[in-house]
Amino acid sequence: MNPIPLVDLKAQYQSIKLEIDNAIQTVINETAFIKGKYVVAFEKAYAEKYGVKNCISCGNGTDALFIILKSLGIGVGDEVITTAQSWIATSEVITQAGARVVFADIEPEYYTIDPEQIEKKITPRTKAIIIVHLYGQSAEMETIKKICDKNGIHLIEDCAQAHFATYQGQKVGTFGIAGAFSFFPGKNLGAYGDAGAILTQDDALAIRMRRFACHGALGKHDHEIEGINSRMDGLQAAILSVKLKYIEQWTKARQEKAQIYNQELSNIKGIRIPKTRPETQHVFHLYVIRCERRKELMDFLQTNGISTGVHYPVALPFLKAYEYLGHSPKDFSEAYRAQNEILSLPLYPELDHSSIVFISQKIKEFFNGTK
Ligand SMILES: *Cc1c(COP(=O)(O)O)cnc(C)c1O
Repeated sequence: MNPIPLVDLKAQYQSIKLEIDNAIQTVINETAFIKGKYVVAFEKAYAEKYGVKNCISCGNGTDALFIILKSLGIGVGDEVITTAQSWIATSEVITQAGARVVFADIEPEYYTIDPEQIEKKITPRTKAIIIVHLYGQSAEMETIKKICDKNGIHLIEDCAQAHFATYQGQKVGTFGIAGAFSFFPGKNLGAYGDAGAILTQDDALAIRMRRFACHGALGKHDHEIEGINSRMDGLQAAILSVKLKYIEQWTKARQEKAQIYNQELSNIKGIRIPKTRPETQHVFHLYVIRCERRKELMDFLQTNGISTGVHYPVALPFLKAYEYLGHSPKDFSEAYRAQNEILSLPLYPELDHSSIVFISQKIKEFFNGTK
């Protein structure tokens, strides 16, 4: 058996090589490097697939979140609530905008922010909540939306891991005031470099975000405000437009692979397979199991040529970056337990059936042989 990586971006490139190579060459021939018609075309295509009025492209997913916060006027004196379990991009943008990060614990079964914990953290200074559809699965949007509406708080969705995931049939990224997307190469829809986008139905906000992302100017020299430089480049847009045609197919493949894992791993004592929230379409950016003997299992799989990952080994409140908040494990007991047990198994659309069976066999062997 060849080594099995956690993700294999080359396999996907090989499957669409001609189209991608053509798209890249065309952009270069036309020197449409920054913004330009390929970026406009991708924005239009992405917005249409979501049935949303505005898509604002930008440099990456972190910028997408930052641009939303800044364009909502969130800054010094404000608080923004977010989940204890995510990548640091979700929370660092809050601080960079000038506001205070307030963490809330997760739902242990689904790893997304716990609505009950949100309510406990709301103060008169709370201006927004950034929820994360972690690993490809929607947060509990019905309750969260109610909480936001009741308290007059902006709902911002971090959809970096959940392109085209749904909750009660509605696509994530369309529940709140704005949805932020990353097209980092390893995401479900990935560029060949950094890229990001924001979706919103709010036309006035869309204009403010477009302006802020581009030096505070909509035209060439009309700088109404100071902004930042966060643009998608033409090569990434052209690549993403090609890949967008395949996203349904790739999502389906991820879901099928996850099903195979579920079947193979369902009766192993010592691990827990991921649970899918009812009424959702999980798009399996990551296939995350729980295991108390994680380190041993990881090492065992690695010696058998199987790469795994941990997303993420330290929950956000416990990172050095947030030491100043003075949190202890009991403040976020579910995120703390999860950080020591979660394990991401290889998953990508091109991963073949026999590899999944092989990985599963090795996991069974680990638990049988050592019990
Ligand atoms: C990847 C990711 C981001 C940041 O996206 P970049 O494009 O890398 O800036 C934000 N939030 C989550 C949950 C992510 O996984």
